[in-house]
Amino acid sequence: MRPVVVLGATGSIGRQTLDVLDRLGVEPAGLAARRPSPEFAELLGRYPSALGAVAEAGPDEAAAFAGTVSQSVDFGRAAVEEMAGWPGHVVVNGIVGAAGLASTLAGLRAANRVALANKESLVVAGPLVTAARSEFGGELIPVDSEHSALFQCLEGEHPDDVARLVLTASGGPFRGKRRSDLTDVVPSEALAHPTWEMGGRITVDSATLANKGFEVIEAHHLFGVDFDQIAVVVHPQSIVHSAVEFVDGSLKAHVGQPDMRIPIQFALTYPRRHPGPGAAFDLAAARVEFEPVDRDTFPILDLAYAAGRAGGTSPAVLNAADEVAVAAFLAGDLPFLAIADVLAGALDQVEWREIETVDDVAAADAEARQVASRLVKGLPITAPQR
Ligand code: MG
Repeated sequence: MRPVVVLGATGSIGRQTLDVLDRLGVEPAGLAARRPSPEFAELLGRYPSALGAVAEAGPDEAAAFAGTVSQSVDFGRAAVEEMAGWPGHVVVNGIVGAAGLASTLAGLRAANRVALANKESLVVAGPLVTAARSEFGGELIPVDSEHSALFQCLEGEHPDDVARLVLTASGGPFRGKRRSDLTDVVPSEALAHPTWEMGGRITVDSATLANKGFEVIEAHHLFGVDFDQIAVVVHPQSIVHSAVEFVDGSLKAHVGQPDMRIPIQFALTYPRRHPGPGAAFDLAAARVEFEPVDRDTFPILDLAYAAGRAGGTSPAVLNAADEVAVAAFLAGDLPFLAIADVLAGALDQVEWREIETVDDVAAADAEARQVASRLVKGLPITAPQR
């Protein structure tokens, strides 16, 4: 295995990646975190040969942090991107949010393997990421469980033989509820995900199915499949991680324990597999159910399909508006059902543009945040002048 750098090392994906690396007996070559936290200092202490990078730190914070660790640490977003671009590395991108895009691009431009857990890279800038992959010859191996499943089901298959990608969704904590049941939902209810242990935003995104919508866009770019050929089905047990339907009526599904360490390890060791980290899966004890998505109760899924089909800046607008709306919901400033209204409003109000550069994405992101914040506060939208 090539040396590994872990971006977003203190987050859920980062920590699970380090667990996988520990089991493989591999020391990370670099660790990056957003902030100079005691948790990050502790990780750097555990891996003294890893170099460090911190994205956001003032000069005093940086100096204080550097004094608490033995290895060299670089500061600033450029330092994280530089680490992603170290040639000959596997880059695990576990950065949360659109901030992960620059590192995905830096990794691909260095022809690295990018083990991608940062789905926003593909959601907000799919065309830029896939262009960088083909231009520089880097690899993009999905870590998102559904996409890892699809990637594995597509191995050895001809693109023309694929009829549909079928993404599974657990349905989240509100599966089976109707709109009227969700009027008074509080954050702790939305954060109670039945099967996956994840961060706050993605857990709320699972409750609204926004996460599944983003995954549809992610799958479209990753595998070059039309939106009409991507389906979503609810599967509460989360043991069928996704499936591919072929033109002859065959269906290949990827089945296993819901344990993110399995797709993380696969992305690191691909095309080989290594023992662990998952326990043997007992098929005889498994119960498997599927049901259609309730699209009235969870309208954000269709908003995501619409944004994906519109292309350009629309998916970036959807993503940025969702970050704002979810943060407002978690702060108690926005009702659960109004998250969808903020997203729909932002898609409507922010002018559609093509994306040709990362700056185009950043501009759409900033504008969408402004519009979404005003929508959250119930303020009228004032069109920004450009
Ligand atoms: Mg997923």
